[in-house]
Amino acid sequence: MELIEQSLRRAGDMLRTSEVSSVELTEACLRRIESAEPDLHAFLAVSGDLAMQQARRADRAWAAWRRGKVSQQPSPLNGIPLAIKDVLCVAELAATAGSRILENFVPAYDATASARLRAAGAVFLGKTNTDEFAMGSSTENSGFGPTRNPWDPQRVPGGSSGGSAAAVAARMAFGALGTDTGGSVRQPAALCGVVGLKPSYGRISRFGLIAFGSSFDQIGTLTRTAEDAALLLQTLAGPDARDATSVPTPPPDYLGALSQATDLAGLRIGVPEEYFDAGVQPEVETRVRAAIEVLAEFGAEIFPVRLPHTEHALPAYYLIANAEASANLARYDGMRYGQRHSDHNLWETYVNTRSAGFGPEVKRRIMLGTYALAAGYYDDYYLRAQKVRTLVKQDFDTAFEQVDVIAGPTTPTTAFKLGEKTDDPLQMYLSDAFTLSCNLAGLPGLSLPCGLDINGLPIGMQLLGPAFAEQRLLNVAHVFQQATDWQRHAPALEN
Ligand code: GLN
Repeated sequence: MELIEQSLRRAGDMLRTSEVSSVELTEACLRRIESAEPDLHAFLAVSGDLAMQQARRADRAWAAWRRGKVSQQPSPLNGIPLAIKDVLCVAELAATAGSRILENFVPAYDATASARLRAAGAVFLGKTNTDEFAMGSSTENSGFGPTRNPWDPQRVPGGSSGGSAAAVAARMAFGALGTDTGGSVRQPAALCGVVGLKPSYGRISRFGLIAFGSSFDQIGTLTRTAEDAALLLQTLAGPDARDATSVPTPPPDYLGALSQATDLAGLRIGVPEEYFDAGVQPEVETRVRAAIEVLAEFGAEIFPVRLPHTEHALPAYYLIANAEASANLARYDGMRYGQRHSDHNLWETYVNTRSAGFGPEVKRRIMLGTYALAAGYYDDYYLRAQKVRTLVKQDFDTAFEQVDVIAGPTTPTTAFKLGEKTDDPLQMYLSDAFTLSCNLAGLPGLSLPCGLDINGLPIGMQLLGPAFAEQRLLNVAHVFQQATDWQRHAPALEN
């Protein structure tokens, strides 16, 4: 197997046993980026110099440990090349959030997630493309042009973490960070055939994350295996004094527990009929049901469950998320960050800067969000949406009294064509129909590849669990991946 085909876990083992160096791994990734990037545009910026510098440092750390100069074994991420979604700050690298308005913004500090990876010795290959401010489901809303799906460059990679998903699928990076406000880790993971883990709200600190919908936003991982997701989560999770929403409890030993997971005896899996409605592509339904059968063969018991408020989740999400976005994006006024399109006075500077800097989807959302919060409309829209949010959460509370995990399709369809949904925002929003509810309730969700459709495009199965049950989702996904080999299918790329 080629170096870049290895899982993150395996690459880490090879580093430890000095079968390979981080410099070799990093060069292999940079070569793949060089050859595939012109077709895919997964990255907004490639940080080759930083990556090579970090790789050499990581190699020195392994060598020092091997020679007994330091007793503490380096992290399993030491020397592993990763990619980071451009909504997260990495000191000295531009952070645009896919927006022209932040084109020249270079943060002086690391997000906590970036800092933890850096401290573990990870190698930063670059910043990945995203829908502007993570608003979208196809990466076509990026102010810098879309990313293409490595399985078929005529199609979208999903979004908003489309650059990260494409980079991992195309073997440009061993793993990547994304963010998930309504599905942006799981949906592109499904469309690109990789594993996407969105942890519970509060599991990973969001300090240094460019905010979209603060009551939903959560950092997540894109990897090729559940094991790799566990490895990254181990480093990322945990309390942070700089994010008041990060939970104070330290994370469990994800990887240790994962290695014990060999069957699913006694695990109750709920299958919601609402996630198999008429809009679901028949092959998606067939493959996901077959995948649930595999889980049953490993001892899981399968039950039907109801999530009756599912259809109301989408309008509630878009009201609340846009309301929060309208407040969060008020800070981009040309004064402190990014572009300034100035004129004679303050008011015109605001207007010109925001008119020129924001793209159409972002403007639409700021307007909708502002409207939903306006006096006179607040009760009818924002407040009602919050009540629906409670009902959606109660659906899950009831279901999780009956079952341990919920399983279904991640997305209604496989990857769609570029341009197919750009004129119809509602159609675009519907591609998150099954992922949004989980964010409304703050729950963990994981998407893993479970088949290919007739066009050879990946299909994703979504697993949902109660708050802070990441381990359970990882275990189920790991058992599935031990029994099947969908995660080893890779898009055909030259070189
Ligand atoms: N597609 C959804 C939206 O556009 C979710 C985006 C996300 O999770 N960041 O809002």
